[in-house]
Amino acid sequence: MKNKFYITTPIYYVNAQPHIGHTYTTIAADVLARYHRDILGEPTFFLTGTDEHGAKIAEKAKEEKKELQVFVDEVAEEFVKAWRALNISNDNFIRTTDEKHMAAVQKALRYMYDKGDIYKGSYKGLYCRGCEQFKNEKDLIDGKCPDHKTEPEQMSEETYLFKMSKYQDKLLAKVKSDELKIRPEGKKNEMVSFIEKEGLQDVSFSRKNLAWGVPLPWDASHTSYVWADAFLNYLTGLGWKGPKDKCPKMWPAETQLMSKDILRVHATIWQAMLLSLDLPTSKELFIHGFFLADGQKMSKSLGNVIAPQDLVKKYGIDASRYLLMSATVFGSDGDIGWQKFDEKYNADLANGLGNLIARVSNILEKDSIKVNIKSGNDQALKKEFGKAMQNLRIDEALKILWGKLRQNDEKLSSAKPWEIKEIDAKKKILEPIAQDILNVAELLQPFMPETAEKIIKQFSAKQIKKGESLFPRI
Ligand SMILES: [Zn+2]
Repeated sequence: MKNKFYITTPIYYVNAQPHIGHTYTTIAADVLARYHRDILGEPTFFLTGTDEHGAKIAEKAKEEKKELQVFVDEVAEEFVKAWRALNISNDNFIRTTDEKHMAAVQKALRYMYDKGDIYKGSYKGLYCRGCEQFKNEKDLIDGKCPDHKTEPEQMSEETYLFKMSKYQDKLLAKVKSDELKIRPEGKKNEMVSFIEKEGLQDVSFSRKNLAWGVPLPWDASHTSYVWADAFLNYLTGLGWKGPKDKCPKMWPAETQLMSKDILRVHATIWQAMLLSLDLPTSKELFIHGFFLADGQKMSKSLGNVIAPQDLVKKYGIDASRYLLMSATVFGSDGDIGWQKFDEKYNADLANGLGNLIARVSNILEKDSIKVNIKSGNDQALKKEFGKAMQNLRIDEALKILWGKLRQNDEKLSSAKPWEIKEIDAKKKILEPIAQDILNVAELLQPFMPETAEKIIKQFSAKQIKKGESLFPRI
């Protein structure tokens, strides 16, 4: 059977505008989706969207003196626009305020409730409003949430709980055996030791008297815990209508991308929910790193925020995609900054790719040299590149392509065809270089779709001509 590929980003919380972190995850998902869809020809589905419920959103809307639905509509639209501006090829954009999604969430919770996996109780604990999560004492630093630097509140309330403890052993076995792969490996080990040491406790699954959410179908005074509502997007985004519906043919997800702050809930609550719903668990959770800007955390007060729209304005869409994807080892934290981006842009794009193409096409046109090259003829390159992509080393995949470009650059510089008079001798030098450029461009498609298309068109012509300058120096 042919492989399929379902990839998701987390749905982004609409209490903030799209930032570089969202952008990085979304471009990476797009690159992987395009690779599987366009290069491997696999049935592919790429889902992203927005998480629009919860107390924080209600507060934020109030702050901005806006109707809740109006507020979330506006921010969701910002995300849609941002992804359009970056040429993101998502197959659906799911919103948790979508009626169909909400109806399916209710059916899922009902199913879990009828099964006895959700029960009424009370919960007492430390609750961080920023995380919308109860916190363990040992998660706190100086009594404060490490992510929000605020003291969580002591809260006790009637709640419905999800019997997550019931699924602990099953889940641990799946993580250990890689049936549920958690990558990079270090993150898997973290999760295994967390489950082994602390165990999975039952988790509060509803909030009383919080209007902005999905009401529980059997008790409308409660709304669903935001995470429970949000996780189900990975199914409803495929058109799933609830537990009576068949498992969508694209489920389980081959890869769910996320940053490390939301790994634990994805590896425990989300997977246990799937088990409770009698559905397969995810195949892989992949955790990518965070960015620092010039060694510091990005923040408005430091004035070092790199906004996605500023990147695009300065470098263009494809170059921005390249700069982010090549900035760091995918899966590790990275350090970015405008100077680094400028240097990389000039070295890899203006001087590297752009200049090589200009030099080669210039001579081919000037001397009317026709080369005989064809599409898809470097199986070794394709294989090496594919291996990196399958391992989600998207930064490595780019290095492989740029290695090829560099080799050809060196070949060109040492053979100096511009000093040769005889056309046949020139052609002998330029033909294999043109072939390599075409091969690289074909694999570059997932990363730089428009640039790749231009180069492919240019190098597929009978007479290759000097085109426009692809990446003017900065
Ligand atoms: Zn917090």
